[in-house]
Amino acid sequence: MDAQHDIIVIGAGPGGASIAALLAEAGLKVLLAEKNDRAGGKAMTLHRQGYGYEMWPVIAIPGGPSRYDELLKQIHREDDVPLSVPPPDLSQNGGIVYHTDDGRWLRMAAVESDNPLDSFAQTFELTAEEMQPVVEMAMAVFALSEDEIDALEEIPILDWLARYDLPAGPLAYIGVMLNMFFLVGPDRIPASEAIRICLRGFMLAGGEFQYWRGGIGRTLEVAAEYVAEHGGTFVTKAKVERIIVEDGRATGIVTPAGEFRARAVVSNAGIQPTVLKLTGEEHFPPEYVEYVRNLEPSWGIAGIRYFLDAPVFPPAGLAFGDRSWWTTQRYEAARAGDWPDIPQLYWSTPALWDPGLAPADGSQVVLIGTLADPDPDSSMSEDAIARIHATALEAWPSLGDHITRQEPYSTKSVSNLTRDAVVPGAGGECIGIAQTMEQEGRNKPKARTPLPGLYIVGCDAGGRGVATHQAVDSGFRVADLVLEDLGVAPRT
Ligand SMILES: Cc1cc2nc3c(=O)[nH]c(=O)nc-3n(C[C@H](O)[C@H](O)[C@H](O)COP(=O)(O)OP(=O)(O)OC[C@H]3O[C@@H](n4cnc5c(N)ncnc54)[C@H](O)[C@@H]3O)c2cc1C
Repeated sequence: MDAQHDIIVIGAGPGGASIAALLAEAGLKVLLAEKNDRAGGKAMTLHRQGYGYEMWPVIAIPGGPSRYDELLKQIHREDDVPLSVPPPDLSQNGGIVYHTDDGRWLRMAAVESDNPLDSFAQTFELTAEEMQPVVEMAMAVFALSEDEIDALEEIPILDWLARYDLPAGPLAYIGVMLNMFFLVGPDRIPASEAIRICLRGFMLAGGEFQYWRGGIGRTLEVAAEYVAEHGGTFVTKAKVERIIVEDGRATGIVTPAGEFRARAVVSNAGIQPTVLKLTGEEHFPPEYVEYVRNLEPSWGIAGIRYFLDAPVFPPAGLAFGDRSWWTTQRYEAARAGDWPDIPQLYWSTPALWDPGLAPADGSQVVLIGTLADPDPDSSMSEDAIARIHATALEAWPSLGDHITRQEPYSTKSVSNLTRDAVVPGAGGECIGIAQTMEQEGRNKPKARTPLPGLYIVGCDAGGRGVATHQAVDSGFRVADLVLEDLGVAPRT
């Protein structure tokens, strides 16, 4: 392997694979080093025993034109990974499964209307009068200018929502969506981000989830392959053990296969593992080390992969009751064992997005999950898994007749796959660092670290948005910083 590169990128998750491809496209010689055997990070798509699936429910949120599309276009690979959309009758039915206080399960059904609020009214059995606060809230969301939204950076979305006396069902739906998008409580999410991305960008704009043929991870495999096809190198099973620092600058990496050097190093391994473990505290100002050590992780997700011999679930969606959405206080109560009767559940069924991802006999893998403690050693995942199973059997009564195999996953599985646990309580986080008011917007960690030549990419720094989208966005933005610092002409 050639040890001389312009740039080394550690990790081929959504952030790392994106920046590596964009820098290769800009003409740099890139080494992309990934510890797993394929690209994708937490959104990796696996192919096993005739099925293709992500490890856990991963659908790109919000759907619609996205940074993924821009990435594929920029590297001229959009035809290799086309969007994959389920038939409308499948995607419009059953995506919301709502547990009423009197114990019934209601399911969203397609309605003949262009107004997304009409399906809300039907799903939650609300009259026009009861829907009025929801209508007012929706109108307020669309009336806000971009500047007005920016000004809400220090107001929690829960406080903003409290201006409207929302009925319990729609409030629970919004709360669960916010939990799912941000993996923190709405009492800590900045209203600016929540309104822009979740309320306006997804829910009220009739947003859809998004998936690509071959799986979400396929988009990132294509990005990693692009690096190898354009003068760079993509190495798998190459766990970076250390970042080399020489004369006060990051100049390379140490892997089991040897040392490699470059003009700069970009890390997708997470800000805490990168600074505290791979580089070492001694190379940073003490106050920066303290700041990094104290960053809070997002919540985690634990769940079950069900292998079924017949279709049971629609392509993707949410199941919940009125108390299934969590503030920080409810999360802490659940951590201590006091869960609501109905946990919030998310699921995705990859073969309904792309029929090529399952045998042609109607069998399917369903990925289902709920909130859990990001601490890989916490026992909350076990509790979460047991509660998912009990609730899923209740919400989908035929499920029990069709399970041929089930595989639980915990936040330890997430940490093992993608992120070293280097500070107490973190490692199995779903997103990366938590998108709280203290850590979002202008308070978000900078992608340029204080160590010259070392950058952070992915959900921890540099991007906007949520989840995988945020990581891909970070790939674009950090690519521009690196090109600027290396004096290379910006991308066109
Ligand atoms: C259970 C679950 C469900 C989710 N559902 C969704 C969803 O529905 N929609 C959505 O958009 N997002 C979802 N996400 C979140 C999404 O997957 C993450 O936000 C996103 O993958 C983070 O991207 P990233 O590039 O920051 O890091 P990661 O995906 O964590 O990628 C980091 C990469 O770096 C590699 N790496 C780490 N350390 C080293 C090292 N020392 N040497 C070499 N390589 C290394 C890892 O192996 C990995 O490939 C989910 C996540 C989980 C866990």
